[in-house]
Amino acid sequence: MRNKELLLIPGPTPVRDDIYDALSQETMGHTDPRFARIYKNSIEMTKELFNHPAEAYVISGSGTLAMEMAIVNTVSKGKRLLVISHGFFGDRFVPLAKAFGIEVDVIQAEWGKQISKKAVIEQLKQHEYKAVTVTHVDTSTGVVANIQELIPVVKRAGALFILDGVCATTALEEDMSKEYGQEGAKIDVVLTGSQKAIGAPPGLAIIAFSEEAVAAREALENVPAYYADIHNWRKVMDDPTAYFATPPVNLIYAYECAMKIVLEEGMEARVERHENYGAAIRRALIAYGMKPLAKEEAAAPTLSCILYPEGVEDHVFRAKLADRGIIVAGALAHLSGKAFRIGHMGNTTPQMLEQAICQIGEVLEEMGHSVTIGAALKAFREVLGSKATIS
Ligand SMILES: *Cc1c(COP(=O)(O)O)cnc(C)c1O
Repeated sequence: MRNKELLLIPGPTPVRDDIYDALSQETMGHTDPRFARIYKNSIEMTKELFNHPAEAYVISGSGTLAMEMAIVNTVSKGKRLLVISHGFFGDRFVPLAKAFGIEVDVIQAEWGKQISKKAVIEQLKQHEYKAVTVTHVDTSTGVVANIQELIPVVKRAGALFILDGVCATTALEEDMSKEYGQEGAKIDVVLTGSQKAIGAPPGLAIIAFSEEAVAAREALENVPAYYADIHNWRKVMDDPTAYFATPPVNLIYAYECAMKIVLEEGMEARVERHENYGAAIRRALIAYGMKPLAKEEAAAPTLSCILYPEGVEDHVFRAKLADRGIIVAGALAHLSGKAFRIGHMGNTTPQMLEQAICQIGEVLEEMGHSVTIGAALKAFREVLGSKATIS
C-alpha cells in the first residue's frame, strides 16, 4: 500500500495502489478513441452497477454537483420538492432547491433516528410533489434510510424518487430495475460521487436516471443550468469522442479501475461485507465504552457516528490518532465535540479496521481511560469471522 495514513473519514476513503497506478497513466486527448473506450466502459459499468437504468452520466464535479443535476433536470421553478432528511446532507437539498426557485418542504429526523413511513405518507397528502429526495446514508449521523418502505409510498403519490447515494453507492443495494412493493415502484434517480464507497479519488459526479426521470427532463423545455443540464452531456455519454466540456481523463482511468474492483467483487458480497464491517466496528467501540449515535437497526454499513465516553476531549483524541496515522472525522453541527465519525467502506480492509481499533484503544489509555483492547478486537472478530475479506 502506497498510503502512509489510514483515511477512515466518511470520504475520501483509502485508494488502492492499482487505482493510483491507473490515475498516473499518461494523459490522453479527451476525444482520443482509446480514451473514449475507457470512458464508455466506465459509463457502461455504472449502468451495470445500478442494474441498467435508462441513462447514466459520469462527469467532473463532486457529489454536490450530482445533487444539483438530479434536481435541475427533474423539478422546475415553482414546483414542489419534499426533502426527507436524516441530517446535514439531507438538509443540503433545501437551499439547493430553493436556489432554483423550487418550493421545498422538509421532514427532519431527530439526529440518529429514522423517519417513519407514516410521517412521509402524511406529508405527501398535504401537497402535490414533483419529487422526493432521500439520503441513502446520511454522513452526518450514520443513519441509513429505509428505502424499501419509502419507495412505494413516494411512487404511489406520483412523485419521482431521488436517492442520494454519495455515502452508500456500491455498499448498499441501489437497483434501479427492482420494483418495490408494487408495479413500477422504482428508484428514479441515484446520484453519487467517486470518493466514498466507490473508493476512487474525489472529483467525479455520477448520476443515473430512470425512464420516468428522463421523461421529466424532456417535459421541461429549458432548465436553469448549462453544465448540469443532461441534454448537453447526452451525446458524450453515448459516444465519448464527442465534446461538450473536457472530462477529467486521469480520474476516469481511476474510476474505471475502481469500478472493475466493485463489479468483480459483486454487489451481493459487497453489501454483506459492509454490513459486517458496520456491525463489527460498532461492537468493538462499544467495548471501549463508546456509544453509536444510531440504534443498530438504523445504523449505516458505511460509516458510524460514535459518541465519546464522558471526559474524552474530541480534538485531543483525533489529534493523537492522527499522530499514529489514523484519520477519523469530527462530528457536525450540535454533535461537534461530542462524537467522531469513522468510515468503514470501499477499499477498507478488516486489517485496517483492526489497526484502527488497536490505536483507538491505545489513545484512550493514553488519555487516562482504562480499556481492554483484546476485548474490542474479539468483539470485532466475532462479527466478522472469517467472512468479508477483500482481495
Ligand atoms: C459527501 C456527501 C455529499 C457531498 O458530496 P461532495 O462530494 O462533498 O460534494 C452529499 N451527500 C452525501 C450523503 C454525502 O455523504
